[in-house]
Amino acid sequence: MTREIDFKYCPKCAAPLLKQTPILLICSACDLHFYINPRATNAIILQNSKNQLLLTKRKFDPHAGKYDLPGGFIDINESVEESVIRELKEELNIDMNKDDIEYLGSCTDTYEFKGVGYYTVGMIYKALVKDDIIITPSDDVESTLWVNMNDIPYDDIAFEGVKIFMKSYFSSTT
Ligand SMILES: [Zn+2]
Repeated sequence: MTREIDFKYCPKCAAPLLKQTPILLICSACDLHFYINPRATNAIILQNSKNQLLLTKRKFDPHAGKYDLPGGFIDINESVEESVIRELKEELNIDMNKDDIEYLGSCTDTYEFKGVGYYTVGMIYKALVKDDIIITPSDDVESTLWVNMNDIPYDDIAFEGVKIFMKSYFSSTT
């Protein structure tokens, strides 16, 4: 697997890049400084009044078929809160606003796509929903599953950082 720090050519002038530090490539010709920063993501812990949270089953790679939290990559010119609201609409057809979501904390992960490994940092929110809420999985979500907070299938969670965050969060709240 190639990581961004292994990229060989300058995206500006196509000359060879030189690895300066574990997070910095410098172009041998035009002096472009290419920093390797994490990609920002979000995830949402949706809870109902029955001590359950919602997991999504991933439709596509990486980790197709594994469970995940709703969420995704943050778009350019989008706040984290806006991205949470957008992802809830895209993946689950749920309408929420910023007052409905509460920030919990963040986690780091890696995301491999088409043979390239990216570093990510994920902002995790929570929201309470009505027990009879209607959810329509779409976009990159295959299906959804309500699970009891004491019965989360951690071995089938797609991303390690999300798994660690959930274990810590639910051990402190249950
Ligand atoms: Zn260059």
